[in-house]
Amino acid sequence: MGLVVQKFGGTSVGSSERIQNVANRVIEEKAAGNDVVVVVSAMGKTTDELVSLSKELNENPSKREMDMLLTTGEQITISLLSLALQAKGHDAVSLTGWQAGMKTEEVHGNARITNIETVRIKQYLKENKIVVVAGFQGITENNEITTLGRGGSDTTAVALAAALEAEKCDIYTDVTGVYTTDPRYVKGARKLNSISYDEMLELANLGAGVLHPRAVEFAKNYEVKLEVRSSLEKERGTIIKEEAEMEDNLLVRGIAFEDNISRVTVIGMEDDIYTLPSIFSLLAKHHINVDIIVQSVTSAKSAVSFSVKTEELQRTLSVLEAQKRNLQYEEVEHENGLSKVSIVGSGMVSNPGVAAKMFEVLQDSKVQVKMVSTSEIKVSTVVVQKDMVKAVEALHETFELTNERVGK
Ligand code: ASP
Ligand code: MG
Repeated sequence: MGLVVQKFGGTSVGSSERIQNVANRVIEEKAAGNDVVVVVSAMGKTTDELVSLSKELNENPSKREMDMLLTTGEQITISLLSLALQAKGHDAVSLTGWQAGMKTEEVHGNARITNIETVRIKQYLKENKIVVVAGFQGITENNEITTLGRGGSDTTAVALAAALEAEKCDIYTDVTGVYTTDPRYVKGARKLNSISYDEMLELANLGAGVLHPRAVEFAKNYEVKLEVRSSLEKERGTIIKEEAEMEDNLLVRGIAFEDNISRVTVIGMEDDIYTLPSIFSLLAKHHINVDIIVQSVTSAKSAVSFSVKTEELQRTLSVLEAQKRNLQYEEVEHENGLSKVSIVGSGMVSNPGVAAKMFEVLQDSKVQVKMVSTSEIKVSTVVVQKDMVKAVEALHETFELTNERVGK
């Protein structure tokens, strides 16, 4: 007996049948003797559809109104799920983010949770109710409705699990767990039994969409026991915890990839201490997210390359162009159609040569590496987009992540 937080994503609540199915999963947990708090996303592609709808009316919508609009998606699901639970004879109550006490900072579109006032939820739990909370939303000090960023329902669930000191937080989704890489692209991809918080955080940040990065951060900081599992199948999913199991103790645990990356190179600035800060504080001021940075110097002139998401490229180029006189560069070059392929694994910390092996594999596959960045437990490379899947497949094979090798 304890408290369990269950989270169901968009596809898991995408239709009335799916909501029935979710209601059954909730009831099972309750019948096992647990208190249950359920967090849900908007049904199916609702959030995307609302975004498109807004664009028909306003190309450049204000973030406040977008939050007002997008939070309606989750509000539909909480009421429908509560109705389904009530129809099955269970006492359920739905709560929006603000009713659930989800306080956030004063930022629209990507707010961080600052505090959760759990009094109301705890009262309902005491009354033996199933509490259904809208994911992805919160409220500011000034009673403004906010959202936590796309995919943020995961974060709602983990933050609630931390605040309520839940026994575990189960993230129910349309896949059976966290995979070595995306099974839609790589046939040999397999489900991991467990993965560490740090590895999961890297993978989530590197484009593996299965969990919201901030949810993993929360889970790590508050040691929330997390499991990613299927809402349709009964099999166990992937456990995310401090240290992953030995049985899965591979050098590389997962491979993430992301396309639509562009590389920008600023050529011919003086090589002095002002070069890097002047470029990057300018970009930061315009909220342009820069990823990998490489600087090279030849005869006192510098070439600074960095990667951005392709959707940010035009803006990046205009910001640089507008400051050409100030920055005093000679020219700016760019290249589109790139991807980022990254290998992640805690085993790298104590095993040198992983990056070298990665580069050899890519060379053997005739994949040119355009940029590199590393952390203690990951190596990221930027490659041409058309080589992305080939690179992932080769790395998956070399680092022994494919199905057949497991258990050997
Ligand atoms: N409905 C929101 C989204 O689509 C939040 C979530 O699903 O986690 O991004
Ligand atoms: Mg999600």
